[in-house]
Amino acid sequence: MNKTDLIWHNGKLVPWDQAQVHVLTHALHYGSSVFEGIRVYATPSGSRAFRLRAHTRRLFDSAKIHRINIPYSAAEIDAACREVVVRNKLTDGAYIRPIAFRGYGDIGLAPPDDHPVDVSIAAWEWGTYLGAGALEAGVDVCVSSWQRVAPNTIPALAKAGGNYLSSTLVSLEARDNGFQEGIALAADGTVSEAASANLFLVRDGIIYTPHATASILTGITRDSVMVLARDLGLDIVEQAIPREMLYIADEIFLTGTAAEITPVKSVDRRVVGAGTRGEITRRLQDAFFGLFDGRTEDRWDWLEPIDEPVRIEKRA
Ligand code: PMP
Repeated sequence: MNKTDLIWHNGKLVPWDQAQVHVLTHALHYGSSVFEGIRVYATPSGSRAFRLRAHTRRLFDSAKIHRINIPYSAAEIDAACREVVVRNKLTDGAYIRPIAFRGYGDIGLAPPDDHPVDVSIAAWEWGTYLGAGALEAGVDVCVSSWQRVAPNTIPALAKAGGNYLSSTLVSLEARDNGFQEGIALAADGTVSEAASANLFLVRDGIIYTPHATASILTGITRDSVMVLARDLGLDIVEQAIPREMLYIADEIFLTGTAAEITPVKSVDRRVVGAGTRGEITRRLQDAFFGLFDGRTEDRWDWLEPIDEPVRIEKRA
């Protein structure tokens, strides 16, 4: 991890090493945290956070699902995210990690509504998530023996700390077996998503991706890719995807804040298409990365300036 100077912790910027919590913090025991990951890109008009407001909205949605009362407004969280980037002098390749979690107080499973909720925001430099060259050459993936949480068990739409026990098992198994990423199936055996990214496949020129009901996190990159695909006049369908469709796809790619748009070159050692980045994947990457070098016009207001820091104090 590339340490920076300051972390925003409950309304104040504190030195990186001093952003600490008590061992009886509720979230440490029960996974009762909600978090986000946001990328900052260098663009011709300066540093921009990609869809910061959408990420903050999802943070509040996740908190609402879990009844975690964040003691700040969305605008305050947005401002604090920008402040952390600016004050740490981060520009291109920065990753922002806001987290809100049940803090130290009651260790019971049904804490009172006024139980302390801590909010921290760190930012650091982060390059290509799935390894250098992955964006062009693609990655080898496997279908995991671990499935995603079933509907009405742990809510998949919330980006909560506890959900990542599942992602960690999928990732460790993939790594141990020599793959760069694992794909989890949903409880019904259809395709869900990768450990930390959404999945798309292409067959006969049509793009398919699992529906929100397939126990996925509805990614912000997923949404962006769907908008860009439609903008390019491509057909895109959200539907249940049988596992074996992965083996006969012409192209597969993963999307996420960390993964960006990463091609998949094999699944369970079966080569995807020609084993190289497919044409539709390349066109979508072009449109996506074009947002950051000015080739794609940002008609959706996705690139948000980060250089307007505002100092916030925690509400009483
Ligand atoms: N699914 C999971 C489980 C994830 O952790 C992520 C990364 N946040 C995604 C999908 C992709 O979401 P996003 O595009 O919003 O980063």
